[in-house]
Order: sequence, then structure tokens, then C-alpha cells
Amino acid sequence: MNPYSGRLKSLRAAWLSGKTRPIEYRKKQLEALGRFLDEKKSDLFHALHEDLRKSAFESEISEVAFTKNEVMETLNNLDSWMKDEYMSKNLATKFDSAFIRKDPIGVVLIISAYNYPINIALVPLVGAIAAGNCVVLKPSEISSSTERVLTEGLPSYLDPETFAVVTGGPEETTKLLENKFDYIFFTGSRNVGKIIMTAAAKHVTPLTLELGGKNPCYVDESCDFQNAANRIVWGKFLNAGQTCVAPDYVICSITTREKLMPCLQKAMHEFYGSNPRESPDFGRLVNNRSFQRVRALLKSGQVAIGGETDESDCYIAPTVLVDVKESEPVMQEEVFGPILPIFTVADLDEAIQFIKRRDPPLAAYAFSSNSKVVNQVLDFTSSGGFCGNDILMHMTLVSLPFGGVGYSGFGKYHGKFTFDTFTHYRASLLRGMGMESLNTLRYPPYANRNLGL
Ligand code: NAD
Repeated sequence: MNPYSGRLKSLRAAWLSGKTRPIEYRKKQLEALGRFLDEKKSDLFHALHEDLRKSAFESEISEVAFTKNEVMETLNNLDSWMKDEYMSKNLATKFDSAFIRKDPIGVVLIISAYNYPINIALVPLVGAIAAGNCVVLKPSEISSSTERVLTEGLPSYLDPETFAVVTGGPEETTKLLENKFDYIFFTGSRNVGKIIMTAAAKHVTPLTLELGGKNPCYVDESCDFQNAANRIVWGKFLNAGQTCVAPDYVICSITTREKLMPCLQKAMHEFYGSNPRESPDFGRLVNNRSFQRVRALLKSGQVAIGGETDESDCYIAPTVLVDVKESEPVMQEEVFGPILPIFTVADLDEAIQFIKRRDPPLAAYAFSSNSKVVNQVLDFTSSGGFCGNDILMHMTLVSLPFGGVGYSGFGKYHGKFTFDTFTHYRASLLRGMGMESLNTLRYPPYANRNLGL
């Protein structure tokens, strides 16, 4: 007997009852989710600090306020998003009504990652509820304090007949996935993404995979180096580098590197002081396993800035590596920690060729005072998202889709894109019972039809 089948049976019964369909119900659930974020804010901040040493400011902008913004955007637009969309017709359907009905999908599963454990779990949940589905949420077990706040708190805000939280790691998730879901939304690593996709295939369940990758950051010789460095340092070392859209490596010429280095050093010093370990604004790796993996990457290239570590505290200083080779681990695997390798190439063309040779990443960045250079990187490479002359900012807009391409995943969300992900676009045609004479044209026998042949 599967340990989750009973719970899923009752969720399916709630789905079949139609309880989640009315707009008033969806709005009430979304309002309750908004209240959870407001009323449990200090518990959430505390948990995020315990899990990742996130500062309250970072927790607010990248987790709680970020999610609340999605709730508000959805509440403000749900009426129009849910409306039937009337479509064009042909001669045979001239007098009918052709439209797309925005149907919920059913019982959906959201599996989330550890690094932004509120944002990544709850932003998809906003869209799943808004679209009228029953939901099972499986938060990351790695951010265990946040997992606890979600597990203990959410069920008293959301309807337990239509929403459930399931805790646990790989073993529990494997069991959970034996059950049939109508949609799976997964955020995590590429390897686990493949496992989820295989499990989904058994039930022909459609899914979204939000995965990672190595996000390149091209820096051009014509640049305001200090501004570029400030933005790169902020985007890279936020959450101690555990951000799926962080710049994974900088790619530039040697001349650029020489100009950029002192600016990176200045920004790092200004943001985190002479001893980042004491900075309240610099986070920690989530656990020892992650610490060991990231520390091993320090063996690639040469440490130019930082490099200090403290295993007892899962601390790795904000670090810049130079003279890295393409074959070294830091240029092969997703860094996902506070290490920024600088990879040198001859020029822009070589940088573009390098980026194109690799798997399409989740994000790509280009810095240049010359807009033609930024556009060239945009035009000739591929990535889930792109931002010119800044880092991460493209994903702060609810109007832009967020998601990967190729090995960085598929599907998209944020704002209306989340609602659409959890919605079935049901092709609907309503016809009258009359005007049968028009229909006789398509009925057999066909013997006397002139096809003009
Ligand atoms: P992970 O793949 O290890 O875990 C993600 C989820 O899968 C967790 O809930 C975990 O319990 C579950 N899981 C782990 N192993 C499993 C298995 N064998 N079978 C079934 N379920 C399993 O990812 P993580 O370490 O939590 O997160 C880091 C990764 O996520 C990075 O690669 C990062 O780039 C990526 N990420 C992507 C995005 C995005 O939006 N595209 C956002 C955040 C993180």
C-alpha cells in the first residue's frame, strides 16, 4: 500500500467535486496565502536565517515580498485571465461560438529546491491555486527549518480538503511519485529532473522542469567596470552563490580582466567588509555536503580574491578564481556557491562561440557600454533568460516568463505564465441545433461531390 494513496484519494475526490473551480474560492485561497506570508513573516525570516543565514532584507526581497507580489498580481488579474478567449472562425462555423476555456488540470504536484525555499515552493503554488487545481506541495527537506514553517503553518490557512504538504527527501518523493498526478512542477538539479521526468512518463503526466546550468556573464572592454563589478558581485554572492540564475562564470579578455579585478575587489570589500565571515549580509552553504562539493572547486585555477573556508560553519568566503581551464571542475559543473571563476578568451567572437558550444544555461548576461555588443550576445546565444548590463533583474518582472531551455529545463512561470502552466487551454466550439442544410455538404454519400480534380 502506498503511504500517500489515501491522502491523494481524498484530494482527487475534492477535485471531482468541483470545489476548486469557482473564482471566489480561488481568490479566498490566494488571500489566505497572502495572510500566511504577512502573519508568519518573522517565523519565515527566522527559518531562512537558520537554514541559509539569509539576512532579513534578503529574505524579504527575494522570498517573502517576491511571493506576495505574485499573490497580488494574480488577485488583481484573475478575472481577466480566467475569461473565455473568443477566437476567429471559418465559413462552416460562422454562426457558432469558438473560444478557449481556461480549465483547471486536476491534482498537481509541486516539488521544490532548497535555495529559495519560500519563493520556489509558493510562487508555483500561487498559479496552481489561481488556475483552480488541488495541490500537493513537497518542499525541500534540505532547508529543514523553512520546511517546518511551511508544513506547520500552511494547512491552517489553506483548505485541507484541496491542499496538502508532504515532507521528506528522495525516498518519500519516490513513493509519492508512484501515484498519478495531472501535472508536476519540479525545481531542482538536472539529475533529479531526469528521475522526475521518468516517473511522470509512467502516468503520461505533463510537467515543468526548472533546472540549473552554468550561466555565462560576458564583460566587454568598453564598460563602466565599477558599475559592472557592483552588479556582478551582488548577483553572484547573494545567498552565498546558491541562486539558479547567479552568474556562474565571467568570460572576458585578459585586458578586461585586469580592469575588472580591482573593481570586483572594491565591491566585495564595500558589500561584505574585510572579513565577510562577520558580515550579517553574507550567507552560508546549506549543509556540509554542499560545503564539501563547493570547497573542492577551489582547486581549479588560482585564487585571486577570498578562498578562506570554515567547515564548522559551512563558510566559504566570496572568492574570485583566475587562470581557470575549461577542463577543470569549476568550468564543468554548476558552481552553486560563492566562487566566481574568470575565464579568459581573445574577444567577443570567441566568447560567443564558447557559450554556444555548451548546454544552453538558465540565464546569460552581457555587460558593455556598447549596446551592439550586448545585442550580439543576445542574438547569437541561447539561454532561458537574458539580462544586459545587470544580473537577476529580468526575473523580478512578473511580465516576463521565467524558465529554462534545453538542459536548463522547460516550461515557464511567474505572473500569468504560472496561471497558464497550471491551466488547460480547452478548445471549445458551441453550435446551434438548426441550419442542417449547411451540414449536408459534409455527410456521405460523397459520390456526386465535385473536388475539381
Ligand atoms: P535537488 O534536485 O537535489 O532537489 C530538489 C527536490 O527534489 C527536493 O525537494 C528533493 O527532496 C527532491 N529529490 C532529490 N532527490 C530525489 C530523488 N532521487 N527522487 C525524487 N526526488 C528527489 O535540488 P536542490 O539541491 O534542492 O537545488 C539545487 C538545484 O536546483 C541547482 O541545480 C539549481 O540550479 C536548481 N534550481 C533551479 C531553479 C530554477 O528556477 N530553474 C531554482 C532553484 C534551484
